[in-house]
Amino acid sequence: MDRPEDSAAENTEFERLLDELVSGDRRLHELPAELPASEAARIRRIALERKLGVSLARTGEYTLDAGRAASRHCENFIGAAQIPIGITGPLSVRGRYVAPDEELYVPLATTEGALIASTNRGCRAIREAGGAVVRVEDVGMTRAPVFRSRGIEDTQRFLHWVDENQDRIREITESTSNHLELLEIRSQVFGSSIYLRFRFRTGDAMGMNMATVACDRVIRDLIEPETGLPCLALSGNFCVDKKPSAINFLEGRGKRVWAEVELSGDILEGSLRTSARDLVEVQYRKNLLGSIAAGSMGYNAHFANILAAFFIATGQDVAQVVEGSMGVTTIEARGEDGVIAAVYMPDLPLGAVGGGTALDTQAEALAMIGVSPGAGPRAGEKGAAAMRLAEIVGATVLAGELSLLAAFTSSDLARAHQELGRGPVQE
Ligand code: NAP
Repeated sequence: MDRPEDSAAENTEFERLLDELVSGDRRLHELPAELPASEAARIRRIALERKLGVSLARTGEYTLDAGRAASRHCENFIGAAQIPIGITGPLSVRGRYVAPDEELYVPLATTEGALIASTNRGCRAIREAGGAVVRVEDVGMTRAPVFRSRGIEDTQRFLHWVDENQDRIREITESTSNHLELLEIRSQVFGSSIYLRFRFRTGDAMGMNMATVACDRVIRDLIEPETGLPCLALSGNFCVDKKPSAINFLEGRGKRVWAEVELSGDILEGSLRTSARDLVEVQYRKNLLGSIAAGSMGYNAHFANILAAFFIATGQDVAQVVEGSMGVTTIEARGEDGVIAAVYMPDLPLGAVGGGTALDTQAEALAMIGVSPGAGPRAGEKGAAAMRLAEIVGATVLAGELSLLAAFTSSDLARAHQELGRGPVQE
């Protein structure tokens, strides 16, 4: 049992830390390391409330493991932002990592009213059509450090050295992880800048940390000491992480995904309130010509919407939605009055382990769709959980595309947002 003098001493210590934070004598990240994460978060919140004259009471109401969040995911931790999670589905996927009879309930975290209702409508159409056919290629995760040479001859020597020492580079990079495999090193040279774009397979993890750690090790232990050329930045932007880019569009990054579904006229009319003719036309004028007019790399209606909601729910790195938003939706007439609709997503960095996937609600979301190493129809295969995740994302994005494009043809878009995004607030 605590003695009164103990709790008095604790209060004094609490007040001292608080005063120091409020006065600025101590910075927010300088709280004693032995303080439990939830307690440190509480002191920071109270200090900020006093300084800013705001209430952070709701920010302080959370269920996640504060220790994990503060030590692995979020410095200066004060609490949690809550994003509502809704469910779309059942979704039917004819993939290689999802069994044909599975009914998937896909969690999406969003603040955009109508997004889930709309995606749900697309899931229904896909289900009625017997499921979306999805295929995924594991392209791998890339990291491209930049080196400085003294000129062309120096550069040639450096690149020759890299060619000659591939095995040693592989040995060192792969020694940094049990799940890393070096697939390729591609070079690009401008003036005296040399870029080496390393591409790794990373098992079930998205792999950005793994690739970065491996590159850092091989540069410090082998490349710099033996070539004498300095690495100027571990990421030289030729990777390309969290930016739209032609190289990722053309060659892929993370997972490359194709998903398609053939829809009859009845399904188009009954579930999507549209017709083949209207859908093909809106696809052509909006996704194709409109995107050309804008110089966009996203020849699609809204990949980013579904990706952002899925990434938040399942603990992916949300900034990589920037890359994922690139891609192409196609809708072609098929048969009398049907269509075949497809999405091509060249750049989907995804992980079933690592990053934010182990956080509490994110882990629950992944469990809901049966994504964990060792689960699913190809459980024994390396990286199968991440491949399953990518198949599910591909089909969900296709559902989102179908429903939004159909909404344009029937003028449902504004009405749905008006009703669902601005409707009366329930008790
Ligand atoms: P990570 O959490 O850093 O690493 C994944 C870890 O999972 C690996 O260390 C691996 O262990 C372990 N693991 C266990 N089972 C595995 C399996 N079946 N397959 C693969 N790995 C398995 O995650 P990451 O995916 O490399 O990186 C994602 C994180 O990087 C995100 O938090 C993201 O926000 C962040 N990020 C970092 C950078 C950067 O430049 N560093 C840039 C963008 C984003 P072993 O290695 O021991 O095998």
